[in-house]
Amino acid sequence: MPLILQNADVLVTMDAERREIPRGALVTDGPSIVWVGPTDALPREWRERADAGAAEVIDMTGHVVMPGLVNTHHHMYQSLTRAVPAAQDAELFSWLTNLYMIWSHLTPEMIAASTRTAMAELMLSGCTTTSDHLYLYPNGARLDDAIGAAHEMGMRFHAARGSMSVGQSQGGLPPDVVVEQEAAILRDSQRLVEQYHDASRHAMLRVVLAPCSPFSVSRDLMRESAVMARHYGVSLHTHLAENDNDVAYSRERFGMTPAEYAEDLGWVGHDVWHAHCVKLDAPGIALFARTGTGIAHCPCSNMRLASGIAPIRAMRDAGVPVGLGVDGSASNDGAHMLGEARQAMLLQRVGHGPAAMSAREALEIATLGGARVLDRDDIGALAPGMSADVVAFDMSGVGYAGAGHDPVAALVFCTPGTVATSVINGRVVVRDGVLRTADLPVVLADHRRLARTLFERAQAH
Ligand SMILES: [Zn+2]
Repeated sequence: MPLILQNADVLVTMDAERREIPRGALVTDGPSIVWVGPTDALPREWRERADAGAAEVIDMTGHVVMPGLVNTHHHMYQSLTRAVPAAQDAELFSWLTNLYMIWSHLTPEMIAASTRTAMAELMLSGCTTTSDHLYLYPNGARLDDAIGAAHEMGMRFHAARGSMSVGQSQGGLPPDVVVEQEAAILRDSQRLVEQYHDASRHAMLRVVLAPCSPFSVSRDLMRESAVMARHYGVSLHTHLAENDNDVAYSRERFGMTPAEYAEDLGWVGHDVWHAHCVKLDAPGIALFARTGTGIAHCPCSNMRLASGIAPIRAMRDAGVPVGLGVDGSASNDGAHMLGEARQAMLLQRVGHGPAAMSAREALEIATLGGARVLDRDDIGALAPGMSADVVAFDMSGVGYAGAGHDPVAALVFCTPGTVATSVINGRVVVRDGVLRTADLPVVLADHRRLARTLFERAQAH
C-alpha cells in the first residue's frame, strides 16, 4: 500500500539543493518515493486515496524525517564478541591476534544470529542500508547465512565476500586455522555473485568482493578479485592504511605505501571502497580523488584502537567519496549509525578545529556519502524516483529538550536516540520505536546463548 508521511517538523531531503522542508510530507509507492514537498501542497490524488483507506498515513508531528542512513563497513559476527577482556586495551594487530582463535569456533547458526542482532541495532539507530564484511568461514559457515538473515530483517544489504589466505606460516597475521585456499575463495565468490547479485535500481541485495586486508591475503588474490569484480560489475572492498603498523607492513612486505599498493593492484575506481584510511598520505588522497575511490570512515573504531584521526577534512576538500562505517562490534562495541555521525563530527574537530565538520556535513556523509561509496545513485536522498528508505526521529524526548532552535543539527549534537519510524524499500520496518520484522527479545536471547557457546568452545581449546 502507498505510504504518506506528513506534518514532519522538518523533512531533510539531501536533494541537489539540500532542501529542508518545514511541515514536510513524502509519498512512497512500491519501492520508490513518488512525491516530496510541504504537507499543505500534498496532491489531491494522495489525499483522496488516504481518505478512501487506499494509502497508509503516518503523522510525523514532532519528528525530523530524513533519508535512511548508510553503513559502509561492519563485521556483524563480532556482535558475539563485544568487550572481550583480552581485547579491550590493544591496538589493531594484537587485538586481532587475541580474537582470531575465538572466531575460529563460529558456526553458521552464529553467523545468522549475529547478523540479525547487528541489523536490529542498526535499524533502530536509523540505518536502512548496510554492508557487512564477513571474512571468516569456519565450521561450514557461508555468506549465505548472513544473506538469509538480512532478508528476514528486511534491510538493504551489500554482502561483502571477505577472505583470508595468508596465514602465520606464510608471514601473514591470522593463524593458519582461519585461512582458506585462494582457488576456493574465488570459486565461492563467483558462485555468490551469480546466485545473488542484483544490479537493478532499488536492489535489496548486492554482492561485493572483499579480501580482508593486505596483511591477510596475497597480491594474486587481490588482483584476481579485481578482475572478477570488473567482469561481473560488482564492487570491491577491503581494509587499508588503518594505522602505523599497517603502513609499515605495506612498506616492508611490498615496498609501497598502501595507496601505491592499491593502485598497483587495480584497486582504485568508483567501484572500490577502502575501510579506515586513517594513514592515507597526500599522494594517496589525490589518487583517491582522481579515481573516485571511496573511504569507509569509522571514527569510533579508530578511537577505540587508537589508530588515529583520519584526514576526512582533507579528503572531502579534495573530492574523495567518504561514507561512514560503525565497523565490527569488537572494535566499536556500540553500532549506532547516528552516533557514528556524531563521532565523525567530533573527531574531525579534535584534529582540525571547530570548523572542521558541521552537523549537516556529518549527516550528508552518513547518507549521500555512503550511497556514493557503495556506488549507488538510488539511495541517500528523499526525492521522486529514489528508493523509499526513510527514517524519522521523535524530537519530544529529554535528549532533544531545548534543541528546537535547530532540530536537524540537534540530531548530531545531542545524544543519539532510537528511531521512531523506519521505512525500507517502502515497507515500514520500525513503528513507534518497535522493530516489526523480527521479535527482538527472541533474537537477543538466541544471540546471548550463542555468544556463551562460542566462548565455552574457545576456552575448551
Ligand atoms: Zn573492519
